[in-house]
Amino acid sequence: MIAEGEQRATPSSPPRFVADAMLGRLAKWLRMLGYDVVFMPDVPDIDILRRARAESRFLLTRDTALARRARSLGVFIHHQDLKAQLRELAEKGLISGPLPDTRCPICNVPLQAVPKPHVRDRVPPYVFQTQREFYECPQCHRIYWAGTHWQNVQATWKEIGW
Ligand SMILES: [Zn+2]
Repeated sequence: MIAEGEQRATPSSPPRFVADAMLGRLAKWLRMLGYDVVFMPDVPDIDILRRARAESRFLLTRDTALARRARSLGVFIHHQDLKAQLRELAEKGLISGPLPDTRCPICNVPLQAVPKPHVRDRVPPYVFQTQREFYECPQCHRIYWAGTHWQNVQATWKEIGW
């Protein structure tokens, strides 16, 4: 939150985020949109603040006091509903739809395309037969594809207007 006369921090573009313990689901969805989001459950507020400041990340929180302490980097999230939270960030001008590279929702690392033959034994046979494009997280090595879950994710973005 910006006080009068206070210098606004100049976070990177696209903006990066730190999410507090209350916002795990939002963090995962932002990662799928391609945003770099550090999720810090179970750590004291001071550590979340330090990380936000050290890396010029917006601090997403449902705690008004913590948002205030983060000054220009603090973003208080009013809503509990995921879609409303995404809309809230869009209305504040912090996100504007999906970035080119989806990140692993678990690891926050950009996914890499993998040639189809490489995943033959790593995905269910039906998935292998019906999908053309596959992606791998370089950290946890999970394989992703545009299945039903991904269609639901995209349907949600569409509802928001992306
Ligand atoms: Zn991963």
